[in-house]
Amino acid sequence: MFKSKTIRSGGNAKTIKGDKFGQYETAIMYLAPASQSLMGNVCPMAGQAGCEMGCLSKAGRAGMFSSIVEARIAKTQRYFKSRETFMADLVKDIAAFVRYCAKKGVKPAVRLNGTSDIQWEVAHPCTRQGVTYTSIFAAFPEVQFYDYTKVYKRAYRALPSNYSLTLSYSAANEAYANAVIDTANETGANVAIVYRTKALRNQFVEDGAHYLGRVGFGLRAMKREVIDGDETDMRFTDKLGVIVGLYAKGPAKRDTSGFVVG
Ligand code: SF4
Repeated sequence: MFKSKTIRSGGNAKTIKGDKFGQYETAIMYLAPASQSLMGNVCPMAGQAGCEMGCLSKAGRAGMFSSIVEARIAKTQRYFKSRETFMADLVKDIAAFVRYCAKKGVKPAVRLNGTSDIQWEVAHPCTRQGVTYTSIFAAFPEVQFYDYTKVYKRAYRALPSNYSLTLSYSAANEAYANAVIDTANETGANVAIVYRTKALRNQFVEDGAHYLGRVGFGLRAMKREVIDGDETDMRFTDKLGVIVGLYAKGPAKRDTSGFVVG
C-alpha cells in the first residue's frame, strides 16, 4: 500500500483487482468531483453527461466516511488555490511512488483523475529535479498514466505515449451521447459504458457486441465488441476499438439520468 498527500494505491478494490496481473501497481488521485470543492469545476462535462449523482466518488470508502470526503475537498481546494505548489506535491509523490514500485519489483501506473476529469495534458507544467516539463507525463516517462474522460475532445489530441484515455459514455443527454459516439468512431478510442447490472454487461460480452444508438431517433450508431472492464482496471492494456463494459457500483446502481445503461 502506498499513501501520500496526493495519490494512493492498494486501498482501492479496483486497484487490487488490477494488481493481480502483478506487473503494475496503480496509484490513484481522488479529488472532490465536479464543483463539490466550491472553488471550481474539475469535471467540465459532468453537467451535460449527467454523471455527478452516480459518480464513483461516493462509492467505496468515501461513501462511508465524511472525513474522506472532507480531505478530498481540501485537496481540490489546494489544486485551485496554488497550482504550482499542488504540482510540486504531485511530482514529489509520484517520484516516491516510482521508488516504492522499484523496491517492490512492479511497474508504476498512475490515474490522476480517479474522481475528476482534469485535462492534465494542457496548461499543467511541472518541475522535476530542477527541470521544467510541459506536463506530468513528460516529467515521468517511466510511469504509465491512464484515465477515463467525458471531455471527448481530448481523444483528438496527440496525447503523450505514456497516457491512455478511455472515453466515458452517458445517454443522459442526446447531444453528449452523439458526440461520444462520433468521437469513438472517428478516433477509434475505446468507450467505457456503465451497465445497470453485472448480468447485463456479461450478456453483451457473451453476445460479442453491443449495438449502441437508435437509428431514426436522432442518436448515432456504433457497433462494437464489449470487453469485461472490471476484470482489470488497467485500461492501457485493453485492445483498441472496443466498448469497455463496467457494471454499476455504489450510488450508480440507482442512477436514472441515462449515465448508467439498461
Ligand atoms: S463520473 Fe467522472 S466526470 Fe462525472 S462527476 Fe464523477 S469524476 Fe466527474
